[in-house]
Amino acid sequence: MIPSLLPTYARAPLAFESGEGSWLTTVDGRRYLDVGAGIAVNALGHAHPALVEALTAQAGKLWHTSNLYEVPNQQALADKLVDLTFADTAFFTNSGTECCELAVKMARKYFHDRGHPEKVEIIAVEGSFHGRSSAGIAAAGSEKLTGGFGPLLPGFTQVPLGDLDAMAAAVTENTAAIIIEPVIGEGGIIPLPEIHIRALRELCDAQGILLILDEVQCGVGRTGRLFAHEWAGVTPDIMMVAKGIGGGFPLGCVLATEEAASGMTGGTHGSTYGGNPLACAVGLAVLNIVSDPGFLAEVNRKAGLMRQRLEGLVASHPEVFASVRGSGLMLGLVCKATNLEVVKAGYEAEILTVPAAENTVRLLPPLTISDAEIAEAVERLDRAAASLGANA
Ligand SMILES: *Cc1c(COP(=O)(O)O)cnc(C)c1O
Repeated sequence: MIPSLLPTYARAPLAFESGEGSWLTTVDGRRYLDVGAGIAVNALGHAHPALVEALTAQAGKLWHTSNLYEVPNQQALADKLVDLTFADTAFFTNSGTECCELAVKMARKYFHDRGHPEKVEIIAVEGSFHGRSSAGIAAAGSEKLTGGFGPLLPGFTQVPLGDLDAMAAAVTENTAAIIIEPVIGEGGIIPLPEIHIRALRELCDAQGILLILDEVQCGVGRTGRLFAHEWAGVTPDIMMVAKGIGGGFPLGCVLATEEAASGMTGGTHGSTYGGNPLACAVGLAVLNIVSDPGFLAEVNRKAGLMRQRLEGLVASHPEVFASVRGSGLMLGLVCKATNLEVVKAGYEAEILTVPAAENTVRLLPPLTISDAEIAEAVERLDRAAASLGANA
């Protein structure tokens, strides 16, 4: 008999009742150190006072009116994002995959309106992840995501990650855009070299196509800059943002230049919930904190500390771990043991991590994690690794 919850998830047998900062407490009172942060979503940890205040204050006034009317805090959040980034305009969604839908529509409409309806193709990289919608799975293209769901949305091709020649060769007169994550997330925490991102920008400029950056996982302070592409010193035409921007409240947004967004005129796109007052109240509170240069400097300092401690962890468990990689507080432990076993051993040691592809374990702690919590996290990972080493 099918369970009452559609059985698409492999859930760990853990149920949490409350959270505070980097900690989660189960219904039976056990405390877990959360360095997965709900898959890079709880950017400010659990129950951050400023976010609780923003949400409850808004909840007492107004929850939802729809985009039939002006939404003042949605306007304020758009103004702030435009102020802080390359973008001239923002559209709010409830998730990352909805951002992929709009990014694809926006790129195609841009060329359509410029008299190039043939330019519809989007080039992505193998092993990427852009969400589970029809556009998202067609973009990523892996059998694991697309198997059984055909016919797929046409107009997507994939080239091997890191192969700039293959990327250049894949561009044709029908190409509209390249879509890529500056730091591959689900695919195994693989940061793209800065020169690679700059080369993609140059390729797009030379070919007159659009660059779409998917910063759903790596954006909002995660890498130590407000957005990961800032490290490379170039900007996209369209950017997808979600996960951390809502700090745990479902919120995403597509940011774009005036030029790239020029096809998206009245009536061409919409969302009932997107950018509703509750989401935008929280989004504003998150952005106010994360965009502070002092906050980002702290993320960088703590990222250095965590990286250093993790290198030590890898060195002391060469039978369990192969290496550590990543950017800022978006870190991956490449495993020799099975990554799922490492995550499971972590549950025993009361630490929460997230598996990713390429046999990697993801560490995506709240950006507010303290030095003492970083030390505690590495200690617990050490215990988890020791338990696996002993069984090996
Ligand atoms: C999580 C993720 C998505 C999809 O976001 P959802 O909110 O799950 O739809 C898209 N792109 C990247 C890079 C992601 O990490």
